[in-house]
Amino acid sequence: MVKAIVGACWGDEGKGKITDMLAADADIVIRFQGGSNAGHTIINDYGKFALHQMPSGIFNKNIVNIIGTGVAFNVPYFVKEMKYLKENGLYNPAILISDRVQLLMPYHILFDTYEEARLSDKQFGSTKSGIAPFYSDKYAKTGIQICDLFHEDVLKERIEAACEIKNVLLEHLYHQPLLDPKAIFDEVIEYKKLVEPYVVNTTEYLNKAIKEGKNILLEGQLGALKDPDHGIFPMTTSSSTLAGFATIGAGIPPYAIEKIYTVAKAYSSAVGGGAFVSEIWGDEAQELRVRGGDAGEFGATTGRPRRMGWFDCVATRYGCMLQGTTDVAFTAIDVLSYLDEIPVCIGYEINGVVTNEFPVTPLLEKAKPVFKILPGWKCDIRGISQYDKLPENARNYVEFIEKEIGYPITIVSNGPKRSEIIYR
Ligand code: GDP
Repeated sequence: MVKAIVGACWGDEGKGKITDMLAADADIVIRFQGGSNAGHTIINDYGKFALHQMPSGIFNKNIVNIIGTGVAFNVPYFVKEMKYLKENGLYNPAILISDRVQLLMPYHILFDTYEEARLSDKQFGSTKSGIAPFYSDKYAKTGIQICDLFHEDVLKERIEAACEIKNVLLEHLYHQPLLDPKAIFDEVIEYKKLVEPYVVNTTEYLNKAIKEGKNILLEGQLGALKDPDHGIFPMTTSSSTLAGFATIGAGIPPYAIEKIYTVAKAYSSAVGGGAFVSEIWGDEAQELRVRGGDAGEFGATTGRPRRMGWFDCVATRYGCMLQGTTDVAFTAIDVLSYLDEIPVCIGYEINGVVTNEFPVTPLLEKAKPVFKILPGWKCDIRGISQYDKLPENARNYVEFIEKEIGYPITIVSNGPKRSEIIYR
């Protein structure tokens, strides 16, 4: 059975925990898009881990973890994460890297930094991990596949071709030192011995595994609203965050995915710029941020304080629809236990008209939230493992949101630990 775990909104919904949990009976976990620009936080018997590029199945010795073709693969980061895992007692995790995955090159990070500096106050809030320049190169066909490391003439030629264009931009647009293709080649060829043991044709491997009936998890990064086609463009990321893309980023048939778990957090948070309709500020936001402190409401990659807001039914309904949700995993409900009343955004008012349809970006910028106030439950709900043992107001909160978004909430997460979970 193939399952996808994806985000409903802006990311940081708690996908890491849900993946780690569902990984208990998985054979394979795959990352299919994105790169080291976002993080997963996982708490388990080994400790607390912030992972960026590694699939979340890494802690289970029986799981094969795959870096799929759709990922922006950063080799130095991979080496760094392997070292970090080893230092924390995790030896030789099983990892396979797609032989067609493209390399995040040192100059992608440079270009990300230069471009954000050039944009100045109009910048996208990039994590400067080189993701946008990486995917630009991929679609402009100047990217470099990992297999090129094993064909030095090809690698040399491709680096030279990429540098030719980049040096024009460096000289005339960014006024920065030019790239030396020879130096880049010498740096990148060192990656070869670091990745060689892991590089295989993961597409063949996965399709065979599907035929054998293996349990496979596709692990998404960020959330539906960051999708470059359907999200809050241009404040999106540069690769598709949708479950549909998992079939491409992993190389499996579109009809192979049977379950799509969309992870939605019981309140909202976002990193980076862009319209955020249910956003709150000041003390109210700070309280939620600190309460969610366990929930690591400081970006795992950047350490920037996250923007906070109330649950947004309009955005979540849209996100669940885009993902093709079969199940919603509703996380971090425990964080709201301190509130007397909990506002929930049920509509957007745009030019005097209230809608529950998620609008295009220029209209989104104008949207004002319409809130419904629900009563809080005012008691600690961590550790409760049966749905009917939750306080009535907590159940009402879950059921109200389920009705508004129109997708079944089958998992409720009431704490960061693996065991803090309720199945409905
Ligand atoms: P991702 O980007 O969607 O993978 O988000 P993360 O996996 O980084 O999760 C964000 C944070 O939420 C992490 O610090 C998790 O430990 C935490 N978390 C996940 N589920 C819950 C939950 O149900 N309750 C609380 N309090 N924290 C949670």
